[in-house]
Amino acid sequence: MKLVSFNNGRLGVVHGDVVVDITELGGVDPAFWPPVGMVKIIEAFLTQEAQIRDAIHNAPRVALSDVRLDAPVRWPNKVVAFPANYYAHIDEMRTGNGSGLISRFKASGQGFFLKANSSLSGPADAIVLPPLADREIHHECELGIVIGKRGRGIPESASKEYVFGFTCLLDMVVRGKEERVMRKSYDTFCPTGPWITTADEINDFENISLSLTVNGELRQQASTRDLIVTIPEMIAMSSAVMTLEPGDIIATGTPAGVGPVRAGDLVEISIDGVGTMRLPVVQGEIGEHSVWSASKAELPV
Ligand code: MN
Repeated sequence: MKLVSFNNGRLGVVHGDVVVDITELGGVDPAFWPPVGMVKIIEAFLTQEAQIRDAIHNAPRVALSDVRLDAPVRWPNKVVAFPANYYAHIDEMRTGNGSGLISRFKASGQGFFLKANSSLSGPADAIVLPPLADREIHHECELGIVIGKRGRGIPESASKEYVFGFTCLLDMVVRGKEERVMRKSYDTFCPTGPWITTADEINDFENISLSLTVNGELRQQASTRDLIVTIPEMIAMSSAVMTLEPGDIIATGTPAGVGPVRAGDLVEISIDGVGTMRLPVVQGEIGEHSVWSASKAELPV
């Protein structure tokens, strides 16, 4: 099943080329703020799945091409993100020739970080670049995991029960040495979508292919089989620290091929079995601050 948020507060299931409107099943007025309807749909999914599947045949529908898709989960409790999580990417960040043993220690020993929830944007939104002279802003192509139920201290062996589904995710970042959360939390620096594909539609979590192009040129291509910290390990590690909630998003780390984007670029991310998003990059006016010029950091992080 492919679940979408659309038209600023409505919830739907993509069925072929239509969106079936299941907003009422979420029990949240589309005008209500904060927009937590999808979180409630996810939380109640086990008990509501039959109703949702009935709705696919009975509820009102609208052409997919006539709606504006939003970030599928607009108001999660948190966005957890893993750093460099594919050997080839760590090697490229280490000047191109890192050893596998050192790489594994670095990735699994580094833990995770958070991106601001407010950096989330959707498949119809542009990536808005802050006006930072002399800084590169990079794309990171990542698989997003959407958590389906509350849990703390989840063992790897039980982790799949907590995966609700998957979405495309871009972890945009200003390269530099400032605090990672600041460099990765500009508005629109976490595009997600175009929908959540529920986990039952993905046969093998350990063999999901993902790719990213900029202006049609292939920049990143990988499979989750090459993850250093696997999906079960990510769920165990993050839930060792904090309670995972329905709707939480885990960004699974980027493979090799990161690089700068500029205003006017078109970024396309595709994940097999999940979907594709095409996002224009535009120049914004807000975002300069003296903190960026105070640091002379040159090394990418
Ligand atoms: Mn990343």
